[in-house]
Amino acid sequence: MIISDKERNYHQKCPICKNYKLKYWFKLKGFTIVKCRECGVSFVKDIVTQKELDYHYGADLEVVNPAGDSVYLKEQNIENLKYFYRKLKSLIVKKVPKGKLLDVGCNAGLFLDVMDGFDRYGVERSTAAGMVAKEKYGDKIFIGTFEDYKAPEVLFDCISVQDVLDHMTNPVEVMNKCNKLLKSGGLLVVKVHDMSCLYAKFSGKKFYALVPPSHLFFFNRTSLTKTLEKASFKVLFFKHLAHRLFLSTVFFRLSREGERKTFYKLYRALEGTFIGKIMIYKNLHDLITVFAVKKH
Ligand SMILES: [Zn+2]
Repeated sequence: MIISDKERNYHQKCPICKNYKLKYWFKLKGFTIVKCRECGVSFVKDIVTQKELDYHYGADLEVVNPAGDSVYLKEQNIENLKYFYRKLKSLIVKKVPKGKLLDVGCNAGLFLDVMDGFDRYGVERSTAAGMVAKEKYGDKIFIGTFEDYKAPEVLFDCISVQDVLDHMTNPVEVMNKCNKLLKSGGLLVVKVHDMSCLYAKFSGKKFYALVPPSHLFFFNRTSLTKTLEKASFKVLFFKHLAHRLFLSTVFFRLSREGERKTFYKLYRALEGTFIGKIMIYKNLHDLITVFAVKKH
């Protein structure tokens, strides 16, 4: 789906902190990426419509698969994902040992699966993934956008938003909705790519998370804090948790959704092989998780 420059609308001010001090960074796949001088967030200046996003996410094939879900969710990668989820759980239960949990962007329910002991709810936009979660958690899974989600009457003790905020067209609105759905003092856990890590700085424009229009926002600690504060949250702490993945998946990441063909070929060549299955424990601080509470 091609939108001509004439039809295109652009953000004139920062969607997070609302000031006009935007600095042009670079253009990628026809999208203009700018940095806000005030809060430090980088974002896609083009106002991407829901129709465009539906078209983008509907696009088939691993090569253009948003966030490479089909790669990360392959049977053999699930245990790798759970390695991260269990670490996250150990931090959550220190603050909230039990209660009602909502996972926004719950996918096939893999994070919910490790959160036994909680009353588990999820929201998932992709029908295919949401149906898998529904088989396990029934009506507690809502398939659709978070905007359309009507929560149960009782408020949540904890809400997690993992690998979701970078995709959203209005992150502050998403955080506002989380705030409304949480009990006073409830815990919010948000995981995004961290543009302030050294790896992102060295990679510059080549950083693997710079994939518009899958990702529309690129956060760092400052802009993430700002986003949460706008929605009346108090940040408790940040964590860079290690991920475990196969060597072949590392090449998939480097291929930036298949765009850089040499890496993609390497991924395809190694996938499922003995070498490809070498386990990598990765902590490049490229993913940051923030823990915050709803202000009383
Ligand atoms: Zn800003």
